[in-house]
Order: sequence, then C-alpha cells, then structure tokens
Amino acid sequence: MREPESLCGLTADEVLSLIEPSGFRYSHATLVTNCIYKKRIRDINHLPGISNKLRNLLSGSHVPGISSPEQSLESVDGSKKYLFRSRSGLLYETVYIPDGKRHTVCVSVQSGCRMGCKLCATARYGFHGNLTAGEMVNQVIGIPEAHLVTHVVFMGMGEPLDNTGEVFRACSIMTAEWGLSLSPANITVSTVGITAEVENFLRSSECNLTLSLFSPFPDERILYIPAERNHPSGKILEIIRSFPARKRRRMSVAYVMIKGLNDTDSHLDGLKSLLAGSSVRVNLLPYHATGDSGFVSSSEERMMYFKHSLVISGISASVRKTRGADIHAACGLLASGLADYKRKAY
Ligand code: SF4
Repeated sequence: MREPESLCGLTADEVLSLIEPSGFRYSHATLVTNCIYKKRIRDINHLPGISNKLRNLLSGSHVPGISSPEQSLESVDGSKKYLFRSRSGLLYETVYIPDGKRHTVCVSVQSGCRMGCKLCATARYGFHGNLTAGEMVNQVIGIPEAHLVTHVVFMGMGEPLDNTGEVFRACSIMTAEWGLSLSPANITVSTVGITAEVENFLRSSECNLTLSLFSPFPDERILYIPAERNHPSGKILEIIRSFPARKRRRMSVAYVMIKGLNDTDSHLDGLKSLLAGSSVRVNLLPYHATGDSGFVSSSEERMMYFKHSLVISGISASVRKTRGADIHAACGLLASGLADYKRKAY
C-alpha cells in the first residue's frame, strides 16, 4: 500500500487540484491549508470546518504531515535546538531563538551541506540530502513554540540556493495568506552565493537576502569559502546592489569575525570600499570555534570598533549576539553536537 502523502508542503493550488475533480472549490482548498499551516492540526479527522465528504476524500491518500522533533536541547540563554528525522531517515537540526517580542526559527534546508566551507561544522558532517519544502515548513509549525514564531531565517544546515526550488516553495507557503502569513520582511535567506540563483531569488521572492562574506578579499575568501571560485562575491554584491530596492526588504552581509585573521584594519577598509554607497547592511558575528581550528573570535571591543567605523562611513552595521553556543546551536556549529542529544536530552 502507498504511504499517504503530506499536505504540509502543498500550496493552496496543489490542494485544489486534488479536490477540484470532486466538485470542491478554491475556498475549500484554503480551508484545508489554513487548518494545516495556521491551526497546525495533526489529525485529518480533526480538521475543523471541513465536511465529511472532503475529509473522506483526503483521508485515504493524505495526512497533515506535521511532525514533532525527535529530541531537543535547551541553552542557558533560552534558545532551543531540535533534532528532526525525515521519513527517509535524514537528520537535521532547527534552532528556536526567543528575544523579547521576536521569536526566530533558524531552519535547515539540507541534511549536512556540500559547500565545504572550511570553518563550518555542518560541512564536516558531509552532505546527506536535500530537505523538501514540507520538511522546512514543519521545522516552524512542528516545534512546541510554533504559535510564537515571528521570524524565520534559512541559516541552519545546508546552502539554501543549492536547494532553491524547495526553499522558494517554503518561502511562498510561509508568506501566503493561505499559509503561515508571515511577512516576507521577517524571512531571511542566507547564502554563500550561487550567482544565477541569487538573481533568481531577487526576482521571484520578496524575502531578505544575506551573503556570508568572511573576507572582502577574494584571494582570502576562497581559502575558507570554496564557492568563491565559481561564484565571486564581488559579482554577487554587484547583482544585489543593482537590484531595485524594495520597501522593507533587507540586503545584508554576514561577517564572522576571527581574531587576527579577518579583523585587521585592512579588512575594515576592504569592507568599506566594497560596500560604500550601497544600502547593504553588515551583520558582524562572533566566531564559534569548531574542531581544532586554532582560531578564536574577535573580541567584543574589536567587533564594536568595526561596527562604529562602518556606521561612521555611512554603512549600516550591527553586532549579533551569540545564542545557543553551549548546545552547539550557534552559527556554524550545527551537526557538531549530534552526540549531545543522547547525553542531555530532556
Ligand atoms: S557555512 Fe553554510 S554553506 Fe558553508 S558549509 Fe556551512 S552550512 Fe554549508
């Protein structure tokens, strides 16, 4: 017997195509998607406001497809990391970060990653497979804090623009009225840069985009972010800068700061000349050591110095706080703590 398919991951039009031959209309399709994405109903027999005829039609072939994480870890700072397993057995992690009125979920798009960035624990885990849009959306609606979520960042395991179709679909579901109804201004896709896909993303989505830069100098960047070879950051920034700005849409650069490596005065000058006159914002991030890299993060003072210098030169900049480092949930650490769950799971 065929396994029932998940409704989570389908658009309203796709649900309509399932039910239209039996006489149902678009309003019935959105009734179903609202039950899945907004009310997060996990049993098809409990979808409220649905006729028996429609329920019977769907229940033979479909399930809501919302699943809970297998395990979780909680940080001393209140953030939580969840371990999910796909139907095919792929492992992937999701991080929930509460911060005042802002509740962010950091979503994975792949199990592992194949981009090979040198200082990233996910790269060392290797690439195990792409996640579907349904599995991405489920990371938001399948966690206990789903009702609180205000922001989504595609910054978990994997490179979003290496799984573009499914990421675009997940963004559509998250922003649609019949879906999660999140504002595109509250959704950010983070990439190391895949040239053609960046253009594609800017044209077809209204969500925010952030480029992981690491160094303003291509010769140096290529040593740590191999994608630089075929997808030069200079070209990607040119595309981002030349794209017509949309109200409330934020373009940014993520800059992980490592003491003595990319936090020198010449790096600061390089950043300024790369971004001068643009509206691209710089997010300065502390480095979280992985393995035996021997590197340490720049000091808070140095990060604040970078921030102030950038701001004085007319470039918008901020320093991001570390969250979830003690549970290996901070940037660049996902997949490095898979063994922790057995030890600390609650
Ligand atoms: S930094 Fe991002 S793109 Fe690079 S290996 Fe890690 S997860 Fe992949």
